[in-house]
Amino acid sequence: MRKPKIVILGAGYGGLMTAVRLQKHVGVNEADIVLVNKNDYHYETTWLHEASAGTLHHDKVRYDIRDVIDRNKVEFVQGTVVEIKKDENKVLLENGEIDYDYLVVALGGEPETFGIKGLKEYAFGITNVNSSRQMREHIEYQFATYNMEEEKDENRLTIVVGGAGFTGIEFLGELTNRIPELCHEYDVDSHKVKIICVEAAPTVLPGFDPELVQYAVSTLERKGVEFLIGTAIKEATPEGIIVAKGDEEPREIKAGTVVWAAGVRGSSIIEKSGFEAMRGRVKVQPDLRVPGMDNVFVIGDSSLVINEEINRPYPPTAQISMQQGECCARNIAALIRNKTELETFKFDNKGTVCSLGEHDAIGVVFGKKVTGTKASFMKKMVDNRALYMIGGVGLVFKKGKFNVL
Ligand code: FAD
Ligand code: NAD
Repeated sequence: MRKPKIVILGAGYGGLMTAVRLQKHVGVNEADIVLVNKNDYHYETTWLHEASAGTLHHDKVRYDIRDVIDRNKVEFVQGTVVEIKKDENKVLLENGEIDYDYLVVALGGEPETFGIKGLKEYAFGITNVNSSRQMREHIEYQFATYNMEEEKDENRLTIVVGGAGFTGIEFLGELTNRIPELCHEYDVDSHKVKIICVEAAPTVLPGFDPELVQYAVSTLERKGVEFLIGTAIKEATPEGIIVAKGDEEPREIKAGTVVWAAGVRGSSIIEKSGFEAMRGRVKVQPDLRVPGMDNVFVIGDSSLVINEEINRPYPPTAQISMQQGECCARNIAALIRNKTELETFKFDNKGTVCSLGEHDAIGVVFGKKVTGTKASFMKKMVDNRALYMIGGVGLVFKKGKFNVL
């Protein structure tokens, strides 16, 4: 009898977790498993703010996918997905096509620019290894150039961060640690450097615990960040950004670097392939399948799961993506064994920790508030746990964070 073919698109948190769990649950005689990813490496998206600021080398945030999969059970295909032909059970890649019996779409998210003019052209994103490396190098180039030029352009040393959500705040934490190093490396007076965070909502980290928000704001202000709250970025230009606060006249802020960290949407492949979606995210059934499709699962940032307690979607996180990967693997194993009852996905929220640089953080863990080095220690444990869940102790020793003191 022909074995069913399971194809997983994306080797991020959701996709890689599905693959490593499937290789455990499913025997080689039961199914063929294929994992498709653009690069031959997985990157820790949750560490990209460090690679972007330059506090952690980008090679530390990535590892070879083939090192964590069982190659006797999972075939890895390096390829870029162009479209899913869901009516033909086929995936089109830039360099070929793959058919499937069961499909897991785990292609992650993309920056949400809300159609704001100039962002795609002039702002940097904290999106993947390439964008992080480019941003780090751009910032260094600004410092090096400032040092060299005869007529100093001080705007080169202004860095604007759009969005004070978790990504923006974590990036600011790293950046404020990196700036003194850059000033030293490039002989630049630190008083010339400006870091401005522009947040449209009336507060930093909207919806998070106000006491912890205050801790984060005062920590970052002390390290030189200027917050413009209740102020929206309206446009990015080659010289900087245009912002507006309420009914006030829009004004320009000149900056050599603009970082857009103001939210994510699902993968563009979702809409391109004709899935019904909200901002690129498919509202999946409780078993994580696409409504009306028995053989297609969507997980991670491209999926949308409602938190019934507040009737709002869960925020897209690595935590939920990995849990979805585990559930999805169990459900696929059940399907290939002809079981009709599938597991309902239930998110087990273990908390949120937001780093503020190497040795500082804020968080709510198992319902308890934590700050400072204790929170930072927990953040590193969370990061190490993600490695452990996918690659075991070996991966933790290879890539883990042990700078806990
Ligand atoms: P990803 O992990 O992003 O993986 C998607 C994969 O698909 C990638 O390997 C990509 O290369 C591949 N891919 C994309 N398009 C294609 C294509 N067309 N063809 C082939 N392959 C493709 N969440 C937390 O829970 N805790 C945190 O502390 C945390 N910190 C964060 C810090 C930062 C700076 C950022 C940006 C996000 C953070 N998040 C955090 C959110 C978390 O990273 C995402 O929710 C998570 O990465 C989503 O997982 P995913 O599997 O959907 O996608
Ligand atoms: P977000 O949507 O959580 O925050 C984006 C912020 O940008 C919001 O505060 C929003 O008000 C602001 N914004 C939107 N438009 C703006 C504009 N025009 N001008 C100025 N500000 C504007 O997005 P994020 O921070 O990128 O996070 C994405 C997801 O990743 C979230 O689910 C988050 O929980 C998760 N994440 C988690 C962690 C962590 O747990 N430590 C870290 C990073 C990201």
